[in-house]
Amino acid sequence: MKIDLHSHTHCSDGVLSPSELVMRAAEKGVDVLAITDHDTVAGLAAARQAIHELQLPLKLINGVEISTSWQQLEIHIVGLNINPDCAQFLARLDTQRQARVARAEEMARRLEKSQIPDVLPAVLKLANGAALTRTHFARHLVSIGKASTMDGVFKKYLGRGKIGYVPNNWVEMSEAIAWIHAAGGVAVLAHPLKYKLTTKWVKRLAEQFAAAGGDAIEIISPQQTPVQKRELWALCQLHGLTASVGSDFHQATTWNDIGKNLYLTDDVTPIWANWPLPASA
Ligand code: AMP
Ligand code: MN
Ligand code: MN
Ligand code: MN
Repeated sequence: MKIDLHSHTHCSDGVLSPSELVMRAAEKGVDVLAITDHDTVAGLAAARQAIHELQLPLKLINGVEISTSWQQLEIHIVGLNINPDCAQFLARLDTQRQARVARAEEMARRLEKSQIPDVLPAVLKLANGAALTRTHFARHLVSIGKASTMDGVFKKYLGRGKIGYVPNNWVEMSEAIAWIHAAGGVAVLAHPLKYKLTTKWVKRLAEQFAAAGGDAIEIISPQQTPVQKRELWALCQLHGLTASVGSDFHQATTWNDIGKNLYLTDDVTPIWANWPLPASA
């Protein structure tokens, strides 16, 4: 069974539309897919409709990826099986997206001071109504030749401490976990090894995530080794958490695709252990 519980559409910083994403997932043999856009659930309805209309053999999990703040770090918390019609949850995500707009305006001002003018209108056009992310800035800066790769543009302009970087007031991690629970979902600590933390801090993060009521840790995400997976599973066991897996798909690259290399071994308890899943899965 192929399960991928972390992916993006063009409703945030993914490249594909919700229907293109579910078609690609089905093509790649994915049985269960969570769409987890940054601070929005806008893509879920169209994805569900496409699955229905095209009769795709794919189960869609309603998801979201919330940007949060913990110890002055930006930590991403994925919510799965949330109710996308919960008005209170939608209002909460709205405040996050408003913070994204305010941050984007400040980012554009800072870039302007560094002799890169007119960034905001270009970024707004690129985003086309999506939740505004640094990825949109990065795509624009690459397109005007400020760096040759996305990674390069983050290293030079958009990463923490660089000239276009603006710290944000994201919701506290513990509060985001409560938001997800209040919307009927489960909370997953996303890509714990992507925050460039020492082992000691990863352990502290997992401990506090669990103490705040978190449910699972993504133990498989892109570019992660089997040894890292084992270490993360040990952390899950220590804190009574289950394991999640996700490609964090934004667009196809040579090293990552939707549903690729996400298999768990039998000794791991997956987050979906008690979910109703399709028989083929
Ligand atoms: P934001 O949530 O607006 O701060 O944007 C963060 C997003 O930027 C992440 O979800 C990634 O998709 C993307 N991102 C972060 N770092 C890099 C990088 N080094 N190269 C390419 N994309 C990145
Ligand atoms: Mn992203
Ligand atoms: Mn993330
Ligand atoms: Mn993501």
